[in-house]
Amino acid sequence: MNNCLICQNNTQDSDYKSLCVGCQSLLHKPIFACHQFGESLQVSQHLCGSCLIKPPVFNQTLYAAFYQAPIDKWVMALKFGKKIIYSRLMAELMLPLLNQANKDHVLMPVPLHKSRLRARGYNQAYEIAKELAKYSGYKLDTSLLRQKQTQMQAQLKFKERAKNVRGAFALSNNFHHEKVILVDDVMTSGNTLSECAKTLIKSGVKSVKVLVFARKSL
Ligand SMILES: [Zn+2]
Ligand SMILES: [Zn+2]
Repeated sequence: MNNCLICQNNTQDSDYKSLCVGCQSLLHKPIFACHQFGESLQVSQHLCGSCLIKPPVFNQTLYAAFYQAPIDKWVMALKFGKKIIYSRLMAELMLPLLNQANKDHVLMPVPLHKSRLRARGYNQAYEIAKELAKYSGYKLDTSLLRQKQTQMQAQLKFKERAKNVRGAFALSNNFHHEKVILVDDVMTSGNTLSECAKTLIKSGVKSVKVLVFARKSL
């Protein structure tokens, strides 16, 4: 018998082991969204206006839910409240999205700088990616490193975010994959994920997709 990680209700009628039907109904996604950047759209279109002008460096954005109450609390609990078990719940919800992607991609968590990793004790993106790899059979790769300590993006204005993460990442030399799915808990401006993608593409990666638990609207 499985119980909901959020409310402890029985999950036997649910599509998920870790989330009951009631809690599942709290998740919302837009009817139409931009394929590449994930922003919600009023009508069915492949891309949003901003991607038509200046597309992001990654090919696709996949996410399980909009970042809004009450799932913002789940994200905060995983990131700052040591609720590492929530990574399993998030991975379960992200798993169906992964199946749309090609199996020749490797899962790569957005890395933390080692000083932040030491302070927090874990990287929530790594915890989610690890669970995803376990359930899906996709390969997990941790060759991407954060070489520069950056400020938390959430503490900065949008204009300052791209600059904050510029040059922050590096890829270890023995990396040889051509297709990557970057994994993180939340995407907002996409600057961190863009900078990761740029680092990968510079190193010869041909295709980068983004998979996050929650998409925060700009
Ligand atoms: Zn529940
Ligand atoms: Zn777009």
